[in-house]
Amino acid sequence: MSQSPSAATPSSRRTLLRTALTGAALTAGSWAWDLPSASATPRPNGKPRPATPAAALRELNAGNLRWRTRHERHPHESLAVRREMVSGQHPFAVVLGCIDSRVAPELVFDQGLGDLLTVRSAGEVLDEAVLGSVAYGVLELDIPLVVVLGHQSCGAVSAAVHAEQTGERLPAHIQYIADRIKPAIDHAQEGAARIDATVSAQVRRVRSQLASEPDLAPRIGAGRLAIVGARYELTSQLVHQVD
Ligand SMILES: [Zn+2]
Repeated sequence: MSQSPSAATPSSRRTLLRTALTGAALTAGSWAWDLPSASATPRPNGKPRPATPAAALRELNAGNLRWRTRHERHPHESLAVRREMVSGQHPFAVVLGCIDSRVAPELVFDQGLGDLLTVRSAGEVLDEAVLGSVAYGVLELDIPLVVVLGHQSCGAVSAAVHAEQTGERLPAHIQYIADRIKPAIDHAQEGAARIDATVSAQVRRVRSQLASEPDLAPRIGAGRLAIVGARYELTSQLVHQVD
């Protein structure tokens, strides 16, 4: 996380952040397909920030529809927005995605500055830094939705499957990634189908690991947070949910 160029101490920055979020607090038990409340923090386009898991999911779905139908708006990039963002951020979704250059969350969901908190690791692999980054978005920025985003033709998943099949040892830090994808490998499939099935299985696995995190689970139970698994298809540019 980059540090603000200001001389603010961590504690004062934390206070500022909380102050900036006043009005965006979510109501316990608000999990429902309802619209964000009128008190939600306004976004640069004047629309309220999605304040419920369902509203956040709708916003991402709408953005992906624009992307895949070539009706992108590239929102929230203007100079005015850049200036407004100096004073704080109110992202409405965490996207935990792969590092793949073809699956940039802001592009495939057609979102802009201040909309998404993105965390990326090869194959969406979790480690302490990734977990801490997701938790920061949920607990400190009060974000109501986490999307675990896998994708078609994932090189990290391919490498993990290949390494298991051949017994070949990968360079150390890449082997670390492969070792963490390995439990998701779908042995019911062969060849390319195995890789594709493992992409989905890895999404499910990471999603359930996040959902069982002690800091996050109570929010899910209270309806203040949803963690969903999804895949991006390079062929169609569609993001769809992985159940
Ligand atoms: Zn990938």
